[in-house]
Amino acid sequence: MIDTKATSGLKDLWVNVLTRIEPTITRTNFVTWFQKTVAIKTTKKGSLVIGVPNAFAESWIREKYAVKILQAVKEVDEKIDGIEFEIVNRLADKENIEGVDVSTISSRPEKKVRKVRNKSEVCLGNGVRSKILNPRYTLDTFVVGKDNRLPHAAAQAVGKMPGGIYNPLYIYGGVGLGKTHLLQSIGNEILKLSPEKTVRYITAEKFVSEVVDSITTRNMAKFKAQYRTVDVFLIDDIQFFARKNSSQQEFFHTFNELYDANKQIVLTSDRPPSELDDLDKRLTSRFGMGMVTEILMPDFEAKVAILQSKCMQNGAIVDNEVLEFIAANVNSSVRELEGVLRQVLAEAKLENRVATVASSAAVFKKLFKAKEIIGYEIDKKKNEGIATTSRDVMEIVSGYYRVTMDEILGEKRNREVLIPRQVCMYLIRHELDESLEKIGGDFGGRNHTTVMNACKKIIQKLDKDQKLVKDINAIKREMGL
Ligand code: ADP
Ligand code: MG
Repeated sequence: MIDTKATSGLKDLWVNVLTRIEPTITRTNFVTWFQKTVAIKTTKKGSLVIGVPNAFAESWIREKYAVKILQAVKEVDEKIDGIEFEIVNRLADKENIEGVDVSTISSRPEKKVRKVRNKSEVCLGNGVRSKILNPRYTLDTFVVGKDNRLPHAAAQAVGKMPGGIYNPLYIYGGVGLGKTHLLQSIGNEILKLSPEKTVRYITAEKFVSEVVDSITTRNMAKFKAQYRTVDVFLIDDIQFFARKNSSQQEFFHTFNELYDANKQIVLTSDRPPSELDDLDKRLTSRFGMGMVTEILMPDFEAKVAILQSKCMQNGAIVDNEVLEFIAANVNSSVRELEGVLRQVLAEAKLENRVATVASSAAVFKKLFKAKEIIGYEIDKKKNEGIATTSRDVMEIVSGYYRVTMDEILGEKRNREVLIPRQVCMYLIRHELDESLEKIGGDFGGRNHTTVMNACKKIIQKLDKDQKLVKDINAIKREMGL
């Protein structure tokens, strides 16, 4: 029977602990790593066992937050003098509500109770709303590494207090580094805190085409009114204004009126204001009046954190080694980082296997033909030590699980030999591409449906069983894959 009293005591304890941790780390990290965590029990030895949804969360939390957690736990209950982690896969289910909902824990009281209304909508004034902001682009989903702390902090400040000292806020940086994400986060944050505000997000390109349209249709007055009544004006990729003189002119007036009325303006561009050579100097000098901040390619650690958080968002389990491999090989943009991960996951799914360094290397080879791949020799297969026959696989698996070849080939169905046998069949089928019939034959004349069922079992388990994922990855490495 579940002791509900004890469970609710543990829940209170955990909420208390989280409430202490929350103000000491960034909101993003707090939400990313503590969502779906739960206090499971206290052990006889006096440790608190913390449930986490997967192995990434476990290793990350252990490495970064164990000390903080232990401190907070001791403050709440001095009898506890240690912490342990346990992976509880079901916590990762979207529907699961066992874990504490960390969005209700906040040192900013106004956030705690405020209902988010029309989060993804932009108010265009006169009660007209349109879905323009991407609800995925929030400050919480933006991973903060050491190189983008400043733009994120500025966005946070503007989100909290539009029209304050960071006005205008000018964010610049290369393609795919998160400018649009941050810009829209500001809009989402402002609408979350003040749903009555009118936020306008537009790309400079769209602005130009609207100016052109309103000139041809003689609707300039309406156009002007639409922009000059907003509370917050978010304009993306202003380098696009280069040499579009009438649009620049119109933008200049809009900018001035909004600025004079203390309305918040946020701009993004691919370069700093001083390098916008083809823009009117009167404009570019105004861009620098508030805060100018550069967004950079995240460092290795932050790249891995971004990949981990994308995996968490998608409920995908990927070995850390694979994520590190992807992070080491993508230096151009976060968009590309996401793209490679998506591709690696899609291919693994299609082929019913887990993503490995080898399969990721193959994706790289396909996507970027000429590129050098760090951390993996693509021609490794040619080296010695590669498993090429059923027998090789059986030997490696038998060594890994410490069962004999006779047991693998035999009839016994106890767990200790059944899993290695199924793993063998799965690997031979999926990595060596042998036919079900041939594998049946190699296993002492078994029927092909037996082999098929074994493969199915493993595939089903791979979705839930983190240990099996690790085991198979380790075996594949031994196979030279
Ligand atoms: P830009 O506007 O600079 O070209 P985007 O804002 O479109 O780039 O970002 C590209 C992709 O990368 C988006 O899916 C975005 O969510 C993601 N991204 C960029 N930076 C981060 C970050 N620090 N944390 C999480 N996701 C990020
Ligand atoms: Mg963009």
